[in-house]
Amino acid sequence: MKILKFGGSSISTPERVQGVMDIVLRSAKRNRNLISVVFSAFGGVTDALIGLSREAAGHSSDYRSSFTALKKRHSDAVRALIPPERRETVQAAVSAMLDELKDTVHGVYLVKECSAKTLDFIMSFGERLSATIIAEALAGRGLNAEFCDSRPLVRTDGNFGSARVDFEATNRRIRAHFAKRKAIQIVTGFIGSTASNETTTLGRGGSDYTASVLGAALAASGIEIWTDVDGVMTADPRKVEKAFPMPSLTYAEAMELSHFGAKVIYPPTIQPAMDRRIPVRILNSFRPDFEGTLIGRRSCSPYPVRGISSMDDIALLLIEGGGMFGVVGFASRLFGVLARHRINVILISQASSEHSICLAVDPHSARSAKAVIEEEFGLEIHAKKIEPVSVDPHASIVAVVGENMKRTPGISGRLFQALGQNGVNVLAIAQGSSELNISVVVPKTDVSKSLNALHDAFFLSGARTVNLFVLGTGLIGGTLLRQILGQSESLRRGRGLELRVVALGDIRKMAFDRNGIALGSWRETLDASPERADLEGFVHRMKALNLPHSVFVDCTGSEDVTAAYEGILKHSISIVTPNKIANSGPYARYRRLRDTALGRGVRFLYETNVGAGLPVISTLNDLTASGDTVLKIEAVLSGTLSYIFNTFGRDRSFSRAVREAKSLGLSEPDPRDDLSGRDVGRKLLILARETGLALEPSDVAVENILPEKCRRAPTVEAFFRELEKSDGLFEERRRQAESRGNVLRYIGTVADGRAGVSLSEAGPDHPFFSLCLLYTSPSPR
Ligand code: ASP
Ligand code: MG
Repeated sequence: MKILKFGGSSISTPERVQGVMDIVLRSAKRNRNLISVVFSAFGGVTDALIGLSREAAGHSSDYRSSFTALKKRHSDAVRALIPPERRETVQAAVSAMLDELKDTVHGVYLVKECSAKTLDFIMSFGERLSATIIAEALAGRGLNAEFCDSRPLVRTDGNFGSARVDFEATNRRIRAHFAKRKAIQIVTGFIGSTASNETTTLGRGGSDYTASVLGAALAASGIEIWTDVDGVMTADPRKVEKAFPMPSLTYAEAMELSHFGAKVIYPPTIQPAMDRRIPVRILNSFRPDFEGTLIGRRSCSPYPVRGISSMDDIALLLIEGGGMFGVVGFASRLFGVLARHRINVILISQASSEHSICLAVDPHSARSAKAVIEEEFGLEIHAKKIEPVSVDPHASIVAVVGENMKRTPGISGRLFQALGQNGVNVLAIAQGSSELNISVVVPKTDVSKSLNALHDAFFLSGARTVNLFVLGTGLIGGTLLRQILGQSESLRRGRGLELRVVALGDIRKMAFDRNGIALGSWRETLDASPERADLEGFVHRMKALNLPHSVFVDCTGSEDVTAAYEGILKHSISIVTPNKIANSGPYARYRRLRDTALGRGVRFLYETNVGAGLPVISTLNDLTASGDTVLKIEAVLSGTLSYIFNTFGRDRSFSRAVREAKSLGLSEPDPRDDLSGRDVGRKLLILARETGLALEPSDVAVENILPEKCRRAPTVEAFFRELEKSDGLFEERRRQAESRGNVLRYIGTVADGRAGVSLSEAGPDHPFFSLCLLYTSPSPR
């Protein structure tokens, strides 16, 4: 025997019911009619019945129009699903039920109150109507099927609204009923009755439970829960876009995961199936061929955890004070008082110092929990042995679940690393020794970021989406965006890395899209964006979006932008930049940026500050990290100056070499920016700092090779005229060098704790003697 159960969303319209009937017919054939099918009410009907009862109890005659809508819905279903020859009979049965419903609700209207008992009776019409209609519809399609009211079978206590099943009586009744029946039973979910035949319900979502109770009583070979999702997902797909269905789960894992997050299955459902070791499969009626999730005694999966769930709204209570240490019975009084006031405790944590106990409750109970605890411990609080209870009402719980955690070290390490790296502050932690669930309490504002970061860490084994906030779209920024676009496919395949540009800004405009700006048309997007450039606004939005793995990419040369770095790093956002300003300013700032990044576990990367695309800085860092001491650095750090001194010679004057550099686009628009040595000085300072020297900008001696008049010339052209007049000067220096067999090079040097840049001579033995320019193509255009 196999039990199938279909939820309301699978039968929300007659068309959907047709699809479900196809599934039932196929299953009946495959299982030689040894099936039974449980149905919920049509989608939304239970809610409508509750609404109707409320209206009636509030003495609002609106209940009449609500009733009419409900009636029409069921009549329409009969018309759509039942073959003409049976339609009248079925319509009559349905109408009789609806009349009874109407009378009951009218009674509620008259007495202006609806007890839990009456509400259960009213709700029972939902399942009775849907199962009646579908049983007839299945019969109409040739199946030997009949309606089965579960009320006489499922015996419960009188706890209306969420009645408990009396398994002994229920099993007996179910077995007796099924022994007598040949036809396939089409069973109402959700409802049962007391020993005195009063209708009860098993709790919202309880049709799943009916299927499980039925399956357990009949020792079914399997229970299929047909829903509208692909199974139990690794996380709530509304919050974690990359969530995917787990192919298998153990009963214990399914129970843990069903308690919070995406409610795929009614939590109590697992127990009866687990007791009888009946496999439960969660399937999607919208995609009947998808395998879904199999819940059984064992699960297999390459992942150490099976799911990440969350409870968005909890309140965290902290009870602390010196008066708790070594006092026996403290916890018992604490939880006793909460129990007496029927306050449910969701999570508990006590530090071994016994100085504090932390617990989570529903935010609605937070106030009364605080009050009753403070009342219970009034004397201790008065004597200052215990502090008044502090309450954080804006917290959430995220939990990782999986039985495999038991045998795998490093899970909590990965969990806390993922949270820490993303700047999520953990407020409390709980892990039982069953090691099935590690729960952490985080600020509510961080719950989505936490879920996504954990999902990446556990299910995408290092694969991650990096969210980029790019400022500056000039030559460098534009080239970067082109590179990202060109490399995205190979980064994804080769490294599991998805680079997503979430924000773009230049001096005019900025644009945000948390799903990623399409890089093929970023320029148009930015142009069309209504948002004006605003550095503060950009940084603020970046922080507020609170996305995991956020990276700020500064492609500007702006001083103002670098002023924001520290705040950005403090917000656990990494920074990548070619902008040299932050690293070549005051040393204290250079230090602070590194310390902040280190403290927050984020990266501050600036490889292109020196040596463009060549790995100079990282190589230097590797050398010092492995214990090497850098004795001396000599470098020609400017491509422009390198070109100029390579070409300037006997047949080419200095000024001509500079002109050529300019016309080749190798120099700054005003070549004096290169010739002043300022930029080279900055690069040298950064190199010196990377080797461990705490130098200030003023410590770098930079030789400005230009004569005073050239420096003061008002325009670039005037400058060139002055430079021509100075050609003799440069030629003289060159000739002197030549006479010694040397060449001129503009060399930066770090040695003996000092740094300087000057025009120097290099002899034939010096590597710079034959220095030539290396051209590489940065990326295909
Ligand atoms: N119809 C009931 C409800 O909406 C039971 C169920 O759907 O499982 O809660
Ligand atoms: Mg330059």
